[in-house]
Amino acid sequence: MAENNGQEQQNQLLGHKDLAHKSLLQSDALYQYILETSVFPREHESLKELREMTEKHPWNLMATPADEGQFLSLLLKLINAKNTIEIGVYTGYSLLSTALALPHDGKILAMDVTREYYDLGLPIIENAGVAHKIDFREGPALPLLDELVKDEKNKGSFDFVFVDADKNNYLNYHKRVIELVKVGGLIGYDNTLWGGSVVAPPDAPLKDYIKVFRGHIMELNKYLASDSRIEICQLPVGDGITLCRRII
Ligand code: SAM
Ligand code: CA
Repeated sequence: MAENNGQEQQNQLLGHKDLAHKSLLQSDALYQYILETSVFPREHESLKELREMTEKHPWNLMATPADEGQFLSLLLKLINAKNTIEIGVYTGYSLLSTALALPHDGKILAMDVTREYYDLGLPIIENAGVAHKIDFREGPALPLLDELVKDEKNKGSFDFVFVDADKNNYLNYHKRVIELVKVGGLIGYDNTLWGGSVVAPPDAPLKDYIKVFRGHIMELNKYLASDSRIEICQLPVGDGITLCRRII
């Protein structure tokens, strides 16, 4: 009983029963309201198809939620993004949101350590008529980024970089993508509130994968807040997305 009370207190503190929940809003009902009122009615039919296909995949928790996809799309249009990078593709929900938001001659350099999941989404992306904007590179992102940074013409040439891969490497990615994004361009780091676990008490019953990366996310958040090369805004959209605008 005492244990249950402790658990309940933690749930109250953290907002949701399940720390792996995708929304940081007060309640599931409120999140559902947003999806049903503002997101699903406007979701592109190919995004809906990709989302529904991904829901059946065993790792579906990794997918970008539809409300975040809608946010990314609007953001990319607001900044007139044309040349972007995505690190961490999975089945491609954020990638397709990006591809649909970019102009016809827009480009996305998309990286994932495996193309296994990308291949599941690719027929839907092709059907949406935007596959020509995507240059998919299979492999660990760090060496791929190192290659890009070596070439002077890539430096400062990207309007937007979306980072959504292995959380323990975010700081390593930051060192590289800060050189690749142009001054005035944006980097988006995803999952920076890590299921709310950044404020979990030390004895909170966290899932193993949450526990493993929590410290890395907290270190990243501190680092970004102190990095004078960027201005930042940490938004409670999805699992938390930190936008960084390069200023020097
Ligand atoms: N943005 C995706 C979406 O909208 O569905 C979700 C990406 S998922 C959270 C993380 C992805 O990062 C996985 O597909 C995984 O294979 C990939 N990944 C993990 N480690 C990586 C690495 N070192 N380099 C590149 N990709 C990596
Ligand atoms: Ca994510």
